[in-house]
Formats: sequence, structure tokens, C-alpha cells
Amino acid sequence: MKKYIRDIQDFPKEGISFKDITPLLIDPIARKKCLDVLVAALKDQAINKVVGVESRGFFFGTLIAQELNAGFVPVRKPNKLPFDTISASYDLEYGTDTLEIHTDAIQPGDRVLIHDDVLATGGTAKAVCELVERLGGTIVQCNFIMELTFLNGRDKLGDRPVFAPVVY
Ligand code: AMP
Repeated sequence: MKKYIRDIQDFPKEGISFKDITPLLIDPIARKKCLDVLVAALKDQAINKVVGVESRGFFFGTLIAQELNAGFVPVRKPNKLPFDTISASYDLEYGTDTLEIHTDAIQPGDRVLIHDDVLATGGTAKAVCELVERLGGTIVQCNFIMELTFLNGRDKLGDRPVFAPVVY
């Protein structure tokens, strides 16, 4: 899969090596292979909701939800979701960021898969887990295409299961 993940140096700002998944999205065979790998371990987990993180978590998030016959729930940046929301803020290198979820998107007892493209420092995924848990959902797995292990994102997610087939 690394063949289909492109490094863009100094994007969106200097010092960042951006992992571009558009080559993976454009190739139907590679995209299907990636989807198969992401869902392979999930078939027996009775997941009924997949939560995708804006915006690159929406691509495979919806594909995974379709494969699992589960609902898809978008988590978005502030003021994008039209219905009642709850929000969670998390620290960035400079400042903070906020994510929102619809209050009716998760019901108590829902078994939830969180999906995003990249696990970096883990701040984003942790905030998403907390939103889902506040609404009464259980996190079955946090699932990413790739993990930047040198940033130790897993540590932030505590004992929630993490799966990321591509490792840097
Ligand atoms: P973090 O909260 O640090 O784990 O960052 C995760 C979020 O930032 C995800 O939504 C990723 O899409 C994005 N992200 C972080 N680092 C990168 C990177 N090197 N390349 C592409 N996306 C990234």
C-alpha cells in the first residue's frame, strides 16, 4: 500500500511530510485492497456505526460502513453540521482545534469503529473517541490506513484497540 501513499514535503507548512492518499483513492484495485485489509479483522465485531473524521476519514469510512452494513457518522469541524451537536476541543502544536458530532448520531450501546486516514499525535482520534463515549457508544476499534509511530499517537488512546496496517 505504501506505493500508493505519496509524501509531499513541507505541506501544509514547512517541516511537515504530508501523507497524500489520493493515489490510493484513484486506483480501484489498490483502493479495494486497502478496504479489504481494513475490514478483514472486523467481520465478527458486530459494529453498527462507523465514525469518519473530516475530511479524509470520510473516504474509507463510508466504504467500510458499506462493507459492514453499518451506519456512517461524520465528525466535522465547527459549524458544519446542521443539527444539534456536542463538541470536543484538543491541543495542537499551536492553539486548539474543535470537532463536532450530531447528538442523535450515536445511541447508548452502539458499537463504534472510528476511522481516519492517519494516526499522528493521536489528539484528533482521542477527541473523537470522547465524543462517541459521551453519547454512550462503545469504541470497538480506532482504525487508520497508516500510523506515524514516532509520534506515539497510540499512547493517547489508552486501552482502546488500534489498527493501522501501514506503519512509518
Ligand atoms: P493527530 O491528531 O496529530 O493524530 O493528527 C491526525 C489528523 O491530522 C488526521 O485527521 C490526519 O488526516 C491529519 N494528519 C496528521 N499528520 C498528517 C500527515 N503527516 N499527513 C497527512 N495527514 C496528517
